Amino acid sequence: MINNTLITAIIDSLEHGVLILNEKNNVEYINKKLSFWLKWNGQDSQEFIGKQDTHFYKKFRKLITETQEYDKVIKSIQRQKNLVSDNIDVEMKTEPYKYLNISTTPIHNSKSDYLGRLWIFENITKTKRLDQAKSEFISIASHQLRTPVSIINGYLSMVENKSEEIEAAQQGAQKLQELIEDLLNVSRLDTDKIVVEKSEEKIINLIEEIISEYSKKIKEKDISLETKYNLGKKETFPLDKKIIRHILGNLIENAIKYTPNNGEIKIKAELKNNNLRISVSDTGIGIPKKEQAKIFQKFFRAQNVKKSESNGTGIGLYYISRLIKLIKGRIHFCSEVNKGTEFVVEIPKEEK
Ligand code: ADP
Repeated sequence: MINNTLITAIIDSLEHGVLILNEKNNVEYINKKLSFWLKWNGQDSQEFIGKQDTHFYKKFRKLITETQEYDKVIKSIQRQKNLVSDNIDVEMKTEPYKYLNISTTPIHNSKSDYLGRLWIFENITKTKRLDQAKSEFISIASHQLRTPVSIINGYLSMVENKSEEIEAAQQGAQKLQELIEDLLNVSRLDTDKIVVEKSEEKIINLIEEIISEYSKKIKEKDISLETKYNLGKKETFPLDKKIIRHILGNLIENAIKYTPNNGEIKIKAELKNNNLRISVSDTGIGIPKKEQAKIFQKFFRAQNVKKSESNGTGIGLYYISRLIKLIKGRIHFCSEVNKGTEFVVEIPKEEK
């Protein structure tokens, strides 16, 4: 396929590793950078040339520490020849190319015939290390801030007959405390400090327990709460209690926060094809259509809430979406401004 010396020279001078397969999915070319990485790991690139791609995938897999994402991509391209591009970060067993970003795309000619496949391996070790340093900094800073802020909060809450100034100081300190907690949670995710620990939990019990933590806030706003369980009272499911608490807690808290007084919140749970499906819906202010795509981004808050509700960091949904990914679940929502919002979380029984 590559019969042009100029093109080969260009591919060889790239900073990225490149692997090219031909139309039969045999390895056609491995560029200099990838050859160098392979050699570093005791593999001779010549050994792969002309052989089936699966041989390369298998050998390369042995160099990766956590293979789950990689396996998924390999499986899907075998099922779907034209899989356009998949972008994954993998951690390698050896230095100095500790982290690689791998992407792949099919090669087509102008008539859309399949000519083969291109794999790109990018060394992202530097960015990853910078990212880790940033997360560690946030983690240390928020840990250090936590104690003094909770002392301030503690003393302010003990003041009887609070003046307007003290009320304002307390509100500010509470906001600061929430922000610090959010930052700590996110930094725990970024520094890989969250371990999933599942045990068989009684679904309804757990949900009711979580709801009860919010009953005071629900009452304060005269919100009516309805629950609907399509499950047996004693039905169990393998769940990480702490993670579910964060996920459901955040959805309920948002539903309360973004629903005006006298509104309604509905919480439903059911088992569907071995998935636990939990939905939280409200009759609140909704999320504007043009902002919906950004709702799971870090620090994102929609315009309509910035006007009506000053309390919030825009971290909650980002955080829970990462947690949901960690437990291999899914989250989606539908929403209409001034009508309401429904968030649905699906958690699989088996890890896929
Ligand atoms: P926060 O609530 O701290 O602003 P989140 O990450 O929990 O941050 O939510 C991000 C944004 O998503 C919110 O600021 C709001 O714009 C929107 N949002 C989330 N839940 C709802 C809801 N139930 N109703 C309306 N908007 C919501």
